[in-house]
Amino acid sequence: MRVLYSYFPWQRCGDSLTGWAAPCHPDDGRIAETGEHRDLAGGYHQSCDLRKWISLEVIGLLGLTRFGQMQSPRWDNGCIAEELRWGSDYYQKLVREDGGMLDSVFIPLGWGPRDFYLSDSPPPAMWSTIRHQALLAAYFQPRDAAYSETCKQVALRVWQYMTSTKPRYEKYQAPALPPLGHDHLNSWYAGFYPGSALDLAHRLCAAVALYRVTGEPGLLEDAVQSASALVDLQVGSAGENNDVGACFWEDPARKNLVESGGYFWHSTGPLGLCELLELKPEHPDSAKWRKAVERVAQQYLNTSRRNPWGLIATRWSIQDQPVPAPGAGQSVSDLYNGGKLDLPGAAGPDRFAVYQYRSYGYNVPISAAGVFMRYAAKLTGRNEYRCVAQRQMDWILGCNPYDASAVEGVGYNQPLRGFYGEFFPPTPQIPGAVSTGLTSGSILMQNSGFANEYDMPVVGWVLWLMTEQAGSSVPQGK
Ligand SMILES: [Zn+2]
Repeated sequence: MRVLYSYFPWQRCGDSLTGWAAPCHPDDGRIAETGEHRDLAGGYHQSCDLRKWISLEVIGLLGLTRFGQMQSPRWDNGCIAEELRWGSDYYQKLVREDGGMLDSVFIPLGWGPRDFYLSDSPPPAMWSTIRHQALLAAYFQPRDAAYSETCKQVALRVWQYMTSTKPRYEKYQAPALPPLGHDHLNSWYAGFYPGSALDLAHRLCAAVALYRVTGEPGLLEDAVQSASALVDLQVGSAGENNDVGACFWEDPARKNLVESGGYFWHSTGPLGLCELLELKPEHPDSAKWRKAVERVAQQYLNTSRRNPWGLIATRWSIQDQPVPAPGAGQSVSDLYNGGKLDLPGAAGPDRFAVYQYRSYGYNVPISAAGVFMRYAAKLTGRNEYRCVAQRQMDWILGCNPYDASAVEGVGYNQPLRGFYGEFFPPTPQIPGAVSTGLTSGSILMQNSGFANEYDMPVVGWVLWLMTEQAGSSVPQGK
C-alpha cells in the first residue's frame, strides 16, 4: 500500500517538492473565453502524459481517500493528510461560485499554461467531486475541522448546482478536442444524462457520501430515490435464469446495456447500492436493493468461475447474434454468450447479451468489482465473495497468463509503458504506478507500450481494494 500511495506524490503537478517534474505548470491556467489567467495550478499528472483530466483524476483520489480513512500505517506521520489536501485543493479551485465546475481538455500540450473553459465539466466530474469532497470532510473532521467544513461546503455547493440549477442537462459536448488521441472524447460521457443509469449511479454515491457528513434527511431521500430508480433499470426477471439478469439498462428505453467497460459503472452503481444498504438496512425499499446486489455478486462469482484465474468479466453489451462457436483453425473470440434478452414489446428480433473479460482498461472495473465483492460478502455473509475479490488483486499482481505484474515496483515482468504520440515528454518509471490493464498486446514490442499506460484511477482503486483486503487498521468509531 505504501508503494501504491507513492504514485500520488510522484505525479504532483505544480509547485511541489515531490513531483517528478516539479515545479511544473505553475501558470495553469488560461481561461479560454476571456484570455485571463486564473490560478488552477496543482493536482496531478494523471497518467503517462501531463494532463489532469477533471472527470478521471478524482476517481483515483476516491481510492486514496478511502485508504486514508481505513488505514493508519506507521509511516504516515501526516503525509497522507497532506496528499489528500493536495488533490482536494486543486479540485476546490475548479469549482465556480455558482457550484458548477470549470472544464479543460489540457491543450496546448507541453509545459505552458493550459486552456480552461468557463463551461461545465462532464457530469461525472461534478458528481464524483461531491462524493470526493464529502469523503474528505469526514476524513478531516477529527484532524482539521476548518478544512473539513470547507470540503463539506464545496460538496454542498456542487450538489446544489447539479440538483437545482442543472437538473435537466443535455449530453456533454467537449469545448475542444485534443490534437493527438481522444478523438472519441464525447463518447466517454455519452451515457450521462438525467435518468440514465450512469447518472443515477453517480448521484446515488454523491448523496450517500454527503448524507454521511451532513445528516440532511433530504439527501437520504434523494439517495433512496436514485437507488430505487436504478434497481428498476436492472435487467432482472427478463433474464432471471442467466447472468444478464444482473446487468443494468442504459436508461428506461431498455435498448442498450449500461457502458460497463470503463471508469464509471463498476466504481459507482453496484457499490452505491451496497453503501446505502449499510446505511439504512431497515429501509422499506432495502429488499429491492439487496436483491439487486445479490444478482450482481452472483454474476461476478459465476464469470470468475469460468476461467482458471478467477477473473471477473466486467464488460457487457448487446448483439443481434449470439457468439458463434469457433470453426477449425479459427481463433477463439474474446466475447462470450451471456444469454438472450427479452426486450419490451417482444415484437422485434431477438437480441443477445455478450460479455468480455479483458476490454481496454479493465483494471479499474476489476478492482472496483473486487471492492464491491467485499461489501457484498459483509452484506450477505458469503465469504466466497472475498476470495473472488482477492483473485482480482492476484491477477493485477501477476497471476495472469502474461506472468506480469501491472504494478511498477511490485512483482515481476512489468511490460514497457506507452512511448509514442501524445506521451512526450516521456513519464519516468514511477514506483506504485499501475497500468490500465494487461492484454496480449501489452507484451508485443511493436505496440510501443500501447495499453500499458499508468493511470491514476486504477492506482486509486487497486489501493482501495488492497485496503479492503488488508482490513481496517483504524479502531472502530474513529
Ligand atoms: Zn505539471
